[in-house]
Amino acid sequence: MSGEPQADCLFCRIVAGEIPATVVRETGTTLAFRDIAPQAPTHVLVVPKAHYPDAAALAGADPALAGALLAEAGRVAEDEKVAESAGGAGYRLIFNTGAGAGQTVFHAHVHVLGGGHGLREKL
Ligand code: ADP
Repeated sequence: MSGEPQADCLFCRIVAGEIPATVVRETGTTLAFRDIAPQAPTHVLVVPKAHYPDAAALAGADPALAGALLAEAGRVAEDEKVAESAGGAGYRLIFNTGAGAGQTVFHAHVHVLGGGHGLREKL
């Protein structure tokens, strides 16, 4: 069924507590944890606890959950003080979608990147 955990999915296993992660926020439907290979001083991943292969599949199947994911990304940015409203310089939200675009983990996630140099460069 759509959204069901996948035994071979890294982020499903982190959600299940089978693989350790540094969790920074958790709700009933989302989990936010630090990226294991940070590309900026703040690099947090926010994932839905339910399994969807990418952000578009998530939004198509459960738009409310996709909205909750974005709201959590904003709260992470506040907590990490990278949001302008928290005194930071702003941050980037990135959804790599498809292997050709660099997606390596096929469980929907948004990268929250902030606090570093180069964040103003255009993609
Ligand atoms: P990319 O590897 O190009 O960033 P994705 O957008 O699919 O592709 O992002 C997957 C992210 O998951 C990577 O930034 C990677 O560093 C991170 N990652 C991989 N394994 C773990 C882990 N065990 N804990 C936390 N983050 C992880």
